[in-house]
Amino acid sequence: MKNLATDLKVLQMHSQPTPSIQTPTKSFHPIFPPLELKCSSLKDLQQIHAQLITTGFIHHSPSLTKFLSISFSLPSGTTSLEYACMVFNHTHQPNTVIWNTILRGLVRHNLANYAILAYVDMLQEPTTPPDRFTFPSLLKACTQSVAFSEGKAMHGQILKLGLESDLYTQTTLISMYAACGDVVSAQKVFDHLGQRKNKVVWTSMISGYATNRYPREALRLFTLMEEEEGLEIDEVTIATVISACADLKNLDYGKKLHLRIQQFRAKICVILGTALIDLYAKCGQMEDAREVFDAIPAKNVVAWSAIISGYAQNNQGEEALRLFKGMVGNADHKPNEITIMAVLSACAQIGDLTLGKWVHAYIDRGGMNYSTSLNNSLIDMYSKCGKIHVASEIFGRMKHKDIVSWNAMIGGLALHGLGEKAVAEFSLMQKAGIQPDDITFIGVLSACSHGGLLQEGLTQFRNMREKFGLTPKLEHYGCMADLLSRAGMLEEAEKFIQDMPMEPDGAVLGALLSGCRAYNNVEIGEKAAKRLLEIEPENDGVYVLLSNIFAKKKQWTEVRGVRNLMHQRGIKKTPGCSSIVVDGVTYTFTVGDHSHGESKEIHSMLNYVNKRLASAGHVAETSEVLLNIEEEEEKERSLSQHSEKLAVCFGLIKTEPEDEILILKNLRVCRDCHSAIKLISKLFHREITVRDRSRFHHFKDGSCSCQDYW
Ligand code: ZN
Ligand code: ZN
Repeated sequence: MKNLATDLKVLQMHSQPTPSIQTPTKSFHPIFPPLELKCSSLKDLQQIHAQLITTGFIHHSPSLTKFLSISFSLPSGTTSLEYACMVFNHTHQPNTVIWNTILRGLVRHNLANYAILAYVDMLQEPTTPPDRFTFPSLLKACTQSVAFSEGKAMHGQILKLGLESDLYTQTTLISMYAACGDVVSAQKVFDHLGQRKNKVVWTSMISGYATNRYPREALRLFTLMEEEEGLEIDEVTIATVISACADLKNLDYGKKLHLRIQQFRAKICVILGTALIDLYAKCGQMEDAREVFDAIPAKNVVAWSAIISGYAQNNQGEEALRLFKGMVGNADHKPNEITIMAVLSACAQIGDLTLGKWVHAYIDRGGMNYSTSLNNSLIDMYSKCGKIHVASEIFGRMKHKDIVSWNAMIGGLALHGLGEKAVAEFSLMQKAGIQPDDITFIGVLSACSHGGLLQEGLTQFRNMREKFGLTPKLEHYGCMADLLSRAGMLEEAEKFIQDMPMEPDGAVLGALLSGCRAYNNVEIGEKAAKRLLEIEPENDGVYVLLSNIFAKKKQWTEVRGVRNLMHQRGIKKTPGCSSIVVDGVTYTFTVGDHSHGESKEIHSMLNYVNKRLASAGHVAETSEVLLNIEEEEEKERSLSQHSEKLAVCFGLIKTEPEDEILILKNLRVCRDCHSAIKLISKLFHREITVRDRSRFHHFKDGSCSCQDYW
């Protein structure tokens, strides 16, 4: 007995009493002629339906099938779907063809669950056994609604019905198994087909491996397909294989395929182009990625998103933003969630808060849905652009928070030195029943370290293993070395590093070395630097820190020794550079920079600032100067022209008094600049934020949010 209508509650409303039926005039008909005409609305459908009833064609199976197919093909949103189901519900003893039509229609309208329920009804009718046209749409339904146990049960029925050699059914079976992650069963079905496999079967299996992250298997199968079967490959297959290469970062293989495509095709389709962009971006070859992107004649939003994400992932945020502006200016390409997330990540990278805010407003204007991932990206952008309170607000409003949300929030608070808040969020996270992971603990431990919460940090580090069963990784040991070193517990830090179960890396030893620099400990500092230089002889920062330690103690001979060593090894100090975004343009400054168009104004502002600083009693902290420049005056001059100071002066000239000045620095902000900027914030009544290599400094009214503890 059919009970589809009881399952389809929506459809019940449309159920009407069975229309009076005339007996058909003939037992065999061609299809009812009005069905060949164009039908574009529910009204047309109703008219044809009435004619079918009055002429008796309603009992003519091919005509009824055609009528149902037409009903399902009308655009969704009209009530034609409900109408079709209503007609079906009133059909007396529908045959297998009609059932198949209904199943296909429901799947087409994403009503996979209803399709499966309808199938259960179909099985109750002994006169309508399923056939080779029944299963492809049903298996698609199982994939759509993640009903894999039902799908597996259908596999049994397929075998019973002897459909194991039907290629169409078997291909959808492979796709179904691949979609539920069971590549082993997919491969079994595939193998069972023996020599009868066609291109579609091969492609389904290859893409099954590729989407389940078995890229090696995908490549192996592809080679087999080419060598043994000699099938001509199409663009979809190549695109799948290129994605597998992207996963493996196998640039050589991917490039070979690209060359082959170029040999027989002048133009690249958008699917293939996007796969290539992704491959090149993942392998860090942005120039190649761009060349492919430029060569795609009909770019869609997926291609745009791929190139923008590529630039963002390769730390070329500016180019990502430039492209995004181009995309928005072009009415044909509306950014989607993936584009927006890539753009927000680029804004976070280069600290472009203005554009970040614009994107946020764009999401609102476009009525885009605030998914969890989108909110997570916003939290990340706002916290990395210095607006931790906005990030907190968004986080607070989120209805569904996943682990990425919590990690972004805790990590953001850590970056801003808000240790206690980070720890508080961490306990809320546990109350919410979210199990912390490695990344959570990097956030928590670095929050303790930046916030000077020594005891809390030690406790959390212990809890990590004992309470949550997580094994600390190198990054966590780095946080702990940092925590102890910042607190001045240098001997404990040294011991902690000795007792580590793995070899310390540059970050761990670097933390100790920075601590030695802050607390002027030459003895431990020298040892740490020596070990560090064994691991990272190219790391210019180590030489700088070491020479700073000696300089602080006025051990000029040692300072010179370090300088000579650097010289011998051909190591150059990474120049400090600071950037500021004004009106969407990033301005970058190096020490003593005179290269800007408005250099004159900047330097006269710098002179003015320095005079005000001097009269307010600021004394330059000359110990920061790396090399032993004999004259104090010379030292002071190079300090006063540090990149962050130039960027601040540019900000003072170019922004409105009420605007906050946001500066990004590639290295740690130096001590002299730190105390100078504190004073500038007071003297000029400006809020200044500096994001350096490891954290934020918010300068306001003469003090900094880090409380001079960094
Ligand atoms: Zn400085
Ligand atoms: Zn600070």
